[in-house]
Amino acid sequence: MNVEHGGPGAGFAAHASWLELSASSLRHNVEVFRALEAVAAGPRRRLGAVLKGNAYGHGFRQTLPLVHAGVDLLYLIDPLDALAVRAFEREQGLAPRQVLVLGAVAPEEAVALAREGVDAVVADRSWEEAGALLRAAKLERPLRAHVHIDTGLGREGFTLEQLPRDTGFLSEYRDVLQVVGVLSHFANTEDVTEQGYALAQLDAFETGMARLVAQLSPARPLERHIAASAASLVLPRARYDALRVGIALYGLWPSVETRLSARLVLGEVPALKPVLTWKCRSQAVKWLPAGSYVGYGCTYRCSEPTRIAVLPVGYFDGYPRLVSGKAHVLVNGRRCAVLGRVMMNHLIVDVTRATTDERPVTATLLGHDGEESVSAEALATWAQTIHYELVTRLGAHLRRVVVD
Ligand SMILES: *Cc1c(COP(=O)(O)O)cnc(C)c1O
Repeated sequence: MNVEHGGPGAGFAAHASWLELSASSLRHNVEVFRALEAVAAGPRRRLGAVLKGNAYGHGFRQTLPLVHAGVDLLYLIDPLDALAVRAFEREQGLAPRQVLVLGAVAPEEAVALAREGVDAVVADRSWEEAGALLRAAKLERPLRAHVHIDTGLGREGFTLEQLPRDTGFLSEYRDVLQVVGVLSHFANTEDVTEQGYALAQLDAFETGMARLVAQLSPARPLERHIAASAASLVLPRARYDALRVGIALYGLWPSVETRLSARLVLGEVPALKPVLTWKCRSQAVKWLPAGSYVGYGCTYRCSEPTRIAVLPVGYFDGYPRLVSGKAHVLVNGRRCAVLGRVMMNHLIVDVTRATTDERPVTATLLGHDGEESVSAEALATWAQTIHYELVTRLGAHLRRVVVD
């Protein structure tokens, strides 16, 4: 194998375990959201892909080319990722997409974003400093800004209390900060089927927007956006001008509750297709006699002769230690229990019935094999967390391969 050394942890083990990204599943999920728009009356709504968290662990670099053509805009957290999008577009000779940085932006970064025609979110008064810097930089064009209203998440954004009191500086700096949009983010759309709290947030959003418009009298209607995956699917009133779709674009339902609500609101549950499969080639397959212990702490003891596969993957790679004794992987379409504790770089599974000899096997840690599958939801549940955390923690060092 021709292996380049790509930094710490990028040796054999990183290549023995790899992630496959299904381009066709991603295209399918984009179509699910396009179809939602066709259902809704009114002008064409814009579809945005959220690529934060290393594209939900799928790999920013590998995912960007897959979504760039299919969506209208890209949402990121890190300003550097936005600049990487522009570099990618130049390299490929592509027309620039609207790119919006949702996360915090340092004043110096604001200048770089303005130069590259990237939109930023103004969420507090620290932007006065950025305004002064932008002015000093004497740029050809203003920075395109979206004002964040905190409608009840209690995270970034101006509360209704602060509006319009704390946004007056936006009029002052309108030569360098051009307000083109307004956004908010829901606190409680995924954990419930009853959307009372979200509806109150929508009311607050409308109130806040009206105050901003009265204060700034923008030349063009502001681009309004509040819906992430769940609200895009189950709260039509929240769709406004653009959807910010993260988890569902990768083929994962935000929650069980969202799926239940979708049946009620949409009449049928759209099929989302998971984009990610995680596989691992075994490092060794061997028999352990009855009575043998497996792994640290000797927490597992073989009650009978057991054929094990040693997989060179562990919690360093993002396979959670908490699933010890609970999870299974798939080998040749069969479930194989994880034996003993998940280790930093190793995982032991029982392949007694899944294979017939001691040749290497390929295990599926996430995804389908034959009739069986291990979902990100299942693995996350075994790890006492949510699939959002599970996928975003998949090691950035793992090889990611695009398949159709
Ligand atoms: C993460 C995030 C989203 C996307 O959320 P999903 O539930 O993954 O669709 C949208 N908007 C903001 C502000 C976010 O932080």
